[in-house]
This record gives sequence, C-alpha cells and structure tokens, in this order.
Amino acid sequence: MDSHAHIDRFPPEERDAVLARAWEAGLEKIVSVATALDGVDTLRQLVELNPGKVFCTVGTHPTELDGGVPAQKEFIDAVERIAPVAIGETGIDLFSAAKSASPQRLAERQKRAFFLQVCIARDLGLPLVIHCREEEKGRLDAWNIVQRTLKDAKVDTEWALIHCFDYSYQELVPWQKSGGFVSFSGTLTHKGNVNVQQAITFTHVGRFLLETDSPFLIPEPLRSEKKVKCCEPAHMVHTARFAAELMEYEYEAVLQCSLKNGNKFFRLEK
Ligand SMILES: [Zn+2]
Repeated sequence: MDSHAHIDRFPPEERDAVLARAWEAGLEKIVSVATALDGVDTLRQLVELNPGKVFCTVGTHPTELDGGVPAQKEFIDAVERIAPVAIGETGIDLFSAAKSASPQRLAERQKRAFFLQVCIARDLGLPLVIHCREEEKGRLDAWNIVQRTLKDAKVDTEWALIHCFDYSYQELVPWQKSGGFVSFSGTLTHKGNVNVQQAITFTHVGRFLLETDSPFLIPEPLRSEKKVKCCEPAHMVHTARFAAELMEYEYEAVLQCSLKNGNKFFRLEK
C-alpha cells in the first residue's frame, strides 16, 4: 500500500497510467491524500473509479492556508460528501512559515487549522494524517506543537499517523510506544538521511507504513540516476527494498506488514 500519494497532482490524462503502473508494481491500495478542500471532489472521483483500491482523505495542508483557515462547517460538509478514510493532511510546517512574510502569523494560523482538524477527526472517529516539518532539521518545535495539540484535544494516538517521518529514533520510539503510527517515504533512501535510516531499525513492526508522497520525493536510486522527473506510487518498491535491508526483513514481509498496518490504521476492509 502506498499510504500517502497525491494522485490529483498528476495531469488528468496521466492518472490512469500512473495507477496502472502502481498495480503492476504490486501495490494493492493507494491513499490519495487531500491538501485543500477545493480538491476533494477530484479525489472522490478517483475513489469511485477505483473502488477498493484508491481511498481518499479530507483536509487542509499547513502550507495551503493563505486564504485563511476554512470553517468547521466546510470540513464537515466535505466529509459528508466525500466519505474519506481519514482527516488530513494537516499539521505544522515551520519551514514554510519561516519563509513567509509573516512567519508568526502563519504559524498561528497553522496551529488553529491543525487543532480544528484534530478535533473534527476525534469527533467523527476518523484517523489523522499529520504533516510535521521543522524550520531546520534537528529542531523539535513543530514536533512539540503536534504532540501538545493531540494531548490538548485528548486524541488517542492510535488514531494519528506522522507521515514522511523525518525524525530520529528518540522521537519514534516513545511515539509508537504511545500507540502512534508513522510512515516512511522515499526520503528514507536519500543519502545522508542517517537519522531516519537509523530510526527505522527501531520501528515497531505493527505501527509503520510506507508511502511515496508522490509526485514529490523521488526515492533512490531513481533520484540520482535522474531518469524520472517525478515520483509516482510504483516507485514505492525502491523505498520498500531499502527499508527491508535496513530492518533485515524480507522485502515481501515489509510490504505485507505495511499493507496490514495500513488496513488497520485506515480501518479498511480486506
Ligand atoms: Zn503529502
């Protein structure tokens, strides 16, 4: 399972081929994650065209808040219309906030949007897909905001997934111990990403997923070979192979684990 892709970011005429290559590569399911409320109807169409294989979420990404925080009613309306498997992606992105004209204001807006979506997920009984990015690698400001928000909203961490996990085992272990899920993207394979490469060797096998975050984040070796312009779900096999080596697991076992964990986290029927 590719637990985090953005199929709607591919040109409409390419989507069928992208999905066909994913199934051919051995994937069984893809969760196409929303980044803004105005894109969710496209996601719904993808779900309807690929029943039991493509699933979608409803949410507003922390870098998609230039127009302000959508009202609670807009989220609820979208959830009722779309029937998503999760809320997200939502979270905190201090990297992009720092680059904006008013970092403080944007960070506050991200916190408001995140808290709102956390509460909606909790109240509707939906899992949460969380994006968490620091202003600089090695800091834990966004991480701490995310942890505090979940605590304040009294969310059971078993319903929360930190996607594109980019921290060390020191964050991973207590997070998973508390019930939280993580997913590893192609950044795991990137040279020099030692913290995450070490972290996955500590992962709880029942609480990790794999993802591409496509069309972003091309995994190695495709990234260095510069053979492809963008990432797509089929490329997840490279991340899975790399993960299997680090974890000293069979490749197939890693894929099966991540599928099983994905089914569990997103409450998908077999
Ligand atoms: Zn994403």
